[in-house]
Amino acid sequence: MDKRICSEIFKTTLKKWGVEAQYDQTIEECAELITALKHLKRGRITEEEVVEELADVILMVHQLTFMLGEDRVCKAIDKKIYKLKQLLKMP
Ligand SMILES: [Mg+2]
Repeated sequence: MDKRICSEIFKTTLKKWGVEAQYDQTIEECAELITALKHLKRGRITEEEVVEELADVILMVHQLTFMLGEDRVCKAIDKKIYKLKQLLKMP
């Protein structure tokens, strides 16, 4: 993904539909991924359909990261990775 192009898209999306719509869309896409994973477990859909739903969620995660600030999200990720490494007893 080209970061500059994505930033433009996220900015335009935000301007067109607003903050609340982005939160609602993220919730909806997460729910669709959850449903797709359940259906995959039951053999009702293909992995490709899960990939499509995963792509929707990833896009919304990027949108929210753009909105909330990449630095803040990266710091939170670093803290979680540090805790996970401790849990796994990794150097
Ligand atoms: Mg979807």
